Amino acid sequence: MSEKGSGKKAAGKKAPEKAEKKRPEKKATAKKAASRKPGPQSRKPAARKPSRAGRRRGPSPADIAGLVVLALTVSLAACNGMTGKGKEKASAETAPEGQVTVRFLDVGQGDAVLVRSPEGKTMLIDGGRSTVLMEQQMKTYGIDKIDVMVATHADADHIAGLVTAASAKPTLFINNGLGGSTKTWERLVSALQAQKTTFRKASNQIINLGSVKVQVIAPPPNMGSDQNDNSVGVALQFGDFRALMTGDSERKETAAWLEQDRAEIAGPFQVYKSIHHGAANGDNPAWLAVVRPQNVVISVGENNYGHPTKTALDLYKQNGVRIYRTDQNGTVTFTGNADGTYTVNTQR
Ligand SMILES: [Zn+2]
Repeated sequence: MSEKGSGKKAAGKKAPEKAEKKRPEKKATAKKAASRKPGPQSRKPAARKPSRAGRRRGPSPADIAGLVVLALTVSLAACNGMTGKGKEKASAETAPEGQVTVRFLDVGQGDAVLVRSPEGKTMLIDGGRSTVLMEQQMKTYGIDKIDVMVATHADADHIAGLVTAASAKPTLFINNGLGGSTKTWERLVSALQAQKTTFRKASNQIINLGSVKVQVIAPPPNMGSDQNDNSVGVALQFGDFRALMTGDSERKETAAWLEQDRAEIAGPFQVYKSIHHGAANGDNPAWLAVVRPQNVVISVGENNYGHPTKTALDLYKQNGVRIYRTDQNGTVTFTGNADGTYTVNTQR
């Protein structure tokens, strides 16, 4: 099923998807991009050809080399405080083509993030707690092949849905190396083994998901055996468009990552997932000051934990971060361009 067709179907159940355009600076950048370089990169997602045949071919070696140069340029820009103009010029010269989508799937209380590269490569980060809801999402978004599956940690609200998603034959599975002792974990391992999926422990590897660079952020050493504090982080980069997700990492883990002074957690990020469903022990001022997200998505459903907490919501508001919630907005989709511009669509 194509993305476009299925998106319509999903929207038909509720209110149609609406494009959010409240943020003035976003409008401005989108307009600027359109006037600077017409063509696929400035197209609205609706104009994109949804079929497999319409998808672009993989990047040429020159494109890949360009991406490396761009990554270097961006990191240099971050270090030297290069002007916006300079950054834009670099992107225009070397940016990969097409658009990346980052979808925060509405799976109730839990996490599930679906990423698609312009080439149609698919990554699923966590799967929520419900096999039924994951199955619905797989139909809605036509998830029939997963190239990379990540379990940030082995708690049920992150891996139960992955058991269902294993039917999409993941090529690679990455986790924190701490297998759960639960039946759910055992079911997931069996399902992945049946699909001959390759297992890899998170080790700060970089994965090319088509032209999207995926930086795996391994849990720091000495985090003990707590699952939350051993959450695997994932930072995505598509030209100047960046997204960061770190599972249910609590302060102990984010503080240790900050100690490591890692470039891949240094913002700004256009897209960011609220840590631990907006719990009070997740996002904190020191961490957010480094990550500097523009938009935060809280993956949350009906729960008894008080998620999202006022503490987390206040923190985002104080930092001027635009808030989306899957319990209120349904599935939230960001469509990113290599020049760093993006559009946001919410299911409701
Ligand atoms: Zn969780």
